[in-house]
Amino acid sequence: MKIPDDVLQQIVARADILSIIGNYTTLTEKGGRYWGLCPFHTEKTPSFSVQPDKGFFYCFGCHKGGSIFTFLMEVEKLSFVEAVETLGRQVGVEVSRGPGDSGEETRRHEALLELFRRVTGSFHYLFTKTQAGGAALAYLTGRGISRETIDAFQIGYAPADPFWLEGFLKKHGYSGDFLASSGLLRSGKTGRNWAFFSHRVIFPIFSAKGDIIAFGGRILEGDGPKYLNSSESPVFKKGTNLYGFFQAKDAIRREKTAIIVEGYMDVIALHQAGLKTAVAPLGTAFTADQARFLRRFADKLIFFFDGDAAGRKAALRSAEICEAFEFTLYAAALPSDKDPADFVQENRVEELQNLLKCPKTIIEYLLENYFEGASSAGSVLQAIFPYIRSIVSAVRREEALTRLAREFDEIDISVIRADFRRFMDGNRKKEIETSESEKKQSSMSMTPELLLIIASIDNKDDFSYIRSRLSLDDFTQAESRDVFITLEDMYRGESGKGDDFPKDAAEGKGTFLRESGNWNRDALVEGIENKTLREFIIEKLYSGELSENRKKMIQDAIHGIRRRNFEKKQRDVERSLRRLAPGNNGNEALIAELLEEKMYLDGELEKLRKMGNE
Ligand SMILES: [Zn+2]
Repeated sequence: MKIPDDVLQQIVARADILSIIGNYTTLTEKGGRYWGLCPFHTEKTPSFSVQPDKGFFYCFGCHKGGSIFTFLMEVEKLSFVEAVETLGRQVGVEVSRGPGDSGEETRRHEALLELFRRVTGSFHYLFTKTQAGGAALAYLTGRGISRETIDAFQIGYAPADPFWLEGFLKKHGYSGDFLASSGLLRSGKTGRNWAFFSHRVIFPIFSAKGDIIAFGGRILEGDGPKYLNSSESPVFKKGTNLYGFFQAKDAIRREKTAIIVEGYMDVIALHQAGLKTAVAPLGTAFTADQARFLRRFADKLIFFFDGDAAGRKAALRSAEICEAFEFTLYAAALPSDKDPADFVQENRVEELQNLLKCPKTIIEYLLENYFEGASSAGSVLQAIFPYIRSIVSAVRREEALTRLAREFDEIDISVIRADFRRFMDGNRKKEIETSESEKKQSSMSMTPELLLIIASIDNKDDFSYIRSRLSLDDFTQAESRDVFITLEDMYRGESGKGDDFPKDAAEGKGTFLRESGNWNRDALVEGIENKTLREFIIEKLYSGELSENRKKMIQDAIHGIRRRNFEKKQRDVERSLRRLAPGNNGNEALIAELLEEKMYLDGELEKLRKMGNE
């Protein structure tokens, strides 16, 4: 699907790039640009910049850059069309879809979100306003949860009748097929479909933007798992979202701190106790994606887990993950057999707040908790070494080892260091293997073909020149062939319109869209599916490598490619001739043909060589 340029321009003109990107990282002005910590790589000092007047962003660390659309594609994992549609919706520009376009997926996303919004509203209504929800409501209010908190988190109730939901939604015009794909129903043998959640307290799961993307359900009575989450769907990935983040966002931003708890009820209890930076992973362990996401808003994390062995282990694993992102880490343990909701229920909010007022540094917490019940110093060290290995700063690593030595005053620090080194050596081999394979994937080097492709994307006139001298057959690299095809399509599509494209349309706010007539450079780059290639091209485009001696570089590259291809053909012809020569039976005509071709190729190559020597 091709989105008309004027639509893109309208969206760019209306969208405030600073406030949109500001949802993902905190930006500060310096020297005409806005700077923040990069959402795409881990860093301590900002190298991510936004230039609102030019309408683009660029990271000097990881070299990602582009328009607001590129940004949304990368950060929300959207296709170009989806990014345009999302932004269009936000700024009130309709992005129309032609027949047979690829917007099917986006439409399904939208429809799912709309369905979840509606279901949330119904569950919340049943919970708060009807008798059916009475038992569920009594459970929550019995736990000391206020009406205000229930509203803020849109908590609801899924009715006990497992067929209620299907009937209700069909009555509202949803098709059976669509509902089947929503994850809200399970197909039954009788043709009727069971609700995935029945007789449960429902915790809607919000995206960072505030869309409802999934549900968690707590059992009220009977058999079954205590908590159930809806399955992953096009709009929901467990490892990247955090429960409560939408409600906690402002507080986390303000305090630059987040409290990590284990479950939904913990988040809700903490928020009600005024600890509004609490978030939780979604029924899984804390992931690197979640840590990376939080790092853009917070410098400090406090793990607030159960005081038992499982809680201890969760704190250790989470700490290992988070050190890579260079948070300052703290932990506080809950007293055994208590969860945060107990404090709220028992009116002991102040005690709960105090537990979190002076959390321990993570190393203190680990030492204290691993000492209890440990059989030997060795076993404590082996448990804590993986965490120390994850500390990025060598100074802080040494600090941690010194702290361990202090704990075991009968063991000399040199012994602990030697032990730690042995532990690291055991792990190093594995690390080297993975980093090598990563390198292989991400490396890409400039070839004459790529140079021409990049120059073409950058400037329509250059493409026009290049295509007059080379054709698709001249390109042998898979990456450049793909892009060449796109450029050809675009070029031919446009030349149909003629060159009388209105000049004034080229003067929009989003200058980047208009750098060369209606040759839409950023849309071209964003259309490239191969991520490594896309990033490579962006880096070269923004680095200005092609601005000096541009004409000469283009000519040399064309020259090199033609010569290479002629030489290859020449070798092929010579090989065929050698194969045919010995017997010679009845092949005279073919040989004559090949000889003729060889003469032609020799001549062309000679010409190219002369040109190259000039
Ligand atoms: Zn970056």
